[in-house]
Amino acid sequence: MKESGSVLVIGGGVAGIQAALDLADRGFRVYLVEETPSIGGRMAQLDKTFPTLDCSICILAPKMIECYRHPNITLLTYSEVEKVRGSAGNFTVEITRKPRFVDEAKCTGCGTCSQKCPIIVPNEFDMLLGDRKAIYMPLPQAVPRVTTIDKDSCLYFTRSVCKICQKLCQAEAVDFDQKPEKINLNVSAIIVATGFSLLNPSVINEYGYGRYKNVITSLELERLANASGPTGGHVTRPSDGKIPDKVAFIQCVGSRGLGRGVSYCSSACCMYATKEAILIKEHKPKSEVFIFYLDLRASGKGFQEFINRAKENWGVLYIRGRPGEIIEDPTTKDLIIFCEHTVRGEVRRLEVDMVVLCPAFIPRESNNKLSEKLRVKLDEYGFFKAEDASLVPVDSNIPGIFTCGCCQGPKDIPESVAQASGAAARAVEVITLTARREG
Ligand SMILES: Cc1cc2nc3c(=O)[nH]c(=O)nc-3n(C[C@H](O)[C@H](O)[C@H](O)COP(=O)(O)OP(=O)(O)OC[C@H]3O[C@@H](n4cnc5c(N)ncnc54)[C@H](O)[C@@H]3O)c2cc1C
Ligand code: SF4
Ligand code: SF4
Repeated sequence: MKESGSVLVIGGGVAGIQAALDLADRGFRVYLVEETPSIGGRMAQLDKTFPTLDCSICILAPKMIECYRHPNITLLTYSEVEKVRGSAGNFTVEITRKPRFVDEAKCTGCGTCSQKCPIIVPNEFDMLLGDRKAIYMPLPQAVPRVTTIDKDSCLYFTRSVCKICQKLCQAEAVDFDQKPEKINLNVSAIIVATGFSLLNPSVINEYGYGRYKNVITSLELERLANASGPTGGHVTRPSDGKIPDKVAFIQCVGSRGLGRGVSYCSSACCMYATKEAILIKEHKPKSEVFIFYLDLRASGKGFQEFINRAKENWGVLYIRGRPGEIIEDPTTKDLIIFCEHTVRGEVRRLEVDMVVLCPAFIPRESNNKLSEKLRVKLDEYGFFKAEDASLVPVDSNIPGIFTCGCCQGPKDIPESVAQASGAAARAVEVITLTARREG
């Protein structure tokens, strides 16, 4: 391990994980900072991935565990970068570890505390479709496998009562007195891999998200389709728990501009909508599945073939057109979609049981704060900007700081991972140059 060549990776999604592993495998010390209690990012929430239909967590979990066990990686979850000073080859970084009120070194992940905790709140990991306890494991395959107390809902913090979890924990891991901890690091390079958010589709008022129960988002569908999700892998309608016979996907919800949302293409939706349509067909082969699209953008390897298979083998029906309005039948909660089929030049009225919206990928709200701390520029939308997107696509305006994955803009997993390896390689160059300068 080369102590002089350490790198800070900010963000523990698939991009940050890949960058950390590449560097650690080459012998460099890596500090991987993740703001939530577990690494994994969005990929951990997905059911399967296109175009291979691999189980998402099955291919991600081994990498998450490798990060945890790797002797060259220090995992700092539930942590935040506070200050960054210095320049390429010599950055000083201040990090705060938030208190999770459970001692990471003692917790065995047995789950007794969560079973007996009386407080139930909606689970963010399941897109609020399922529940969790006030002391909870963030996801079934969490890394590190340690519970966290949500201070805002815990009875001890809100009403000074309970402490059941502490009484039951045989490992004596629950520690209500835990305080934020400051950590100072010295690193040669920094890689930003903080990912993306999704647009709240209720801003596209005519689709009724938030008003109609059976209008859901694509990420909500991933959790419904997932065996460890809130419905045990049954894709059911939120209004009545029925397995839908007719489902419609609407792409570009808030993407590719119409005055609302964003002007750019969200890049991964054509493919993941096709994947999710196939998942619905796999669950219920006799169901009818429609995809409303503007253009099908399938430029990756095997992508067009994947769409062809969805049409030919699975009978997924593609309709070219952006629906103008959805209305709900107040009795059945079924949905009626109004749209122009622009290939046939006819107005369509389609009645379905459930609608899945594919919302725009948008920059994370926290990008502004992080960009100020790092002095790294954002682009006009608020994503981290590449200094020269054509020739050095992972370099930022600050030498020694690199960006990769969806923090730069919408991308799929293969592209995010490729960029992450690129950023890791560029970080090695900084370390090598610094070592040469220092003789
Ligand atoms: C519904 C849906 C389905 C998809 N299906 C597929 C698919 O089948 N195949 C495919 O290739 N792609 C798919 N994608 C795209 C895929 O999710 C992304 O390409 C991938 O997650 C990008 O990884 P990332 O690491 O860049 O970002 P993320 O997955 O967003 O990870 C970023 C991480 O950084 C952390 N973080 C954020 N800010 C900070 C901070 N300031 N400090 C510390 N940590 C921070 C976050 O908590 C998170 O853990 C899908 C996307 C969606 C929305
Ligand atoms: S805090 Fe204690 S009871 Fe809860 S999972 Fe950890 S070891 Fe088990
Ligand atoms: S003290 Fe808080 S976290 Fe622990 S069991 Fe009670 S409500 Fe749950």
